[in-house]
Amino acid sequence: MDKINQVKEALEKNNMKTYLAKDKTKACEIVFNMIDKTDSIGTGGSITLDECGIRQKLRDEKYNFLDWSQEITPEEKDKILHEILSCDVFLTSSNSITLDGRLFNVDERGNRMAAVIYGPKKVIVVAGKNKIVKDLLEARERMDTISAPLNVKRLNKNTPCATIGHCVDCESPDRICRHTVITERQAPGRISVVLVDEELGI
Ligand code: SF4
Repeated sequence: MDKINQVKEALEKNNMKTYLAKDKTKACEIVFNMIDKTDSIGTGGSITLDECGIRQKLRDEKYNFLDWSQEITPEEKDKILHEILSCDVFLTSSNSITLDGRLFNVDERGNRMAAVIYGPKKVIVVAGKNKIVKDLLEARERMDTISAPLNVKRLNKNTPCATIGHCVDCESPDRICRHTVITERQAPGRISVVLVDEELGI
């Protein structure tokens, strides 16, 4: 069995309904088949969602999108982030997904993982095949050597990993690694995963 099917089987064993998409266009279609115009919809920060065109479609087609990434004041952004914690559908990606069906994520503020853990009625995770790792050790390694160093560069943060390319468990005020969350066996029906047979996000 290939990795993507192995992960699908493991996620479903952990009660996370999983859909396979051959590319980002199909992933976008699958996501929009799972949401409704009347749903309030929030997202975490995610390059994957943008690469799939999901956030742009939410804006263009006038969904009830709680969009914190628009030009708004810090106070307005904070208000939207709080509203997202009780929205109908939360969309996000995952830093890694293990072969045995666990989602591994590290957050800075914690808003993304708070919404995955509790609040929104439905959570949809969209992830490219590059996010698949063997186990939690490899997930941590991927975070420390790929996701975090690339994310700090993208976000213009002043942390050691931005220059040396790996984690040194820094004490920088700009540190983005503040909450490590492992999402494992769920109660059925809340979290779904769309696994995309393409490399997406970092
Ligand atoms: S803890 Fe600091 S050095 Fe390590 S990955 Fe996070 S931001 Fe980079």
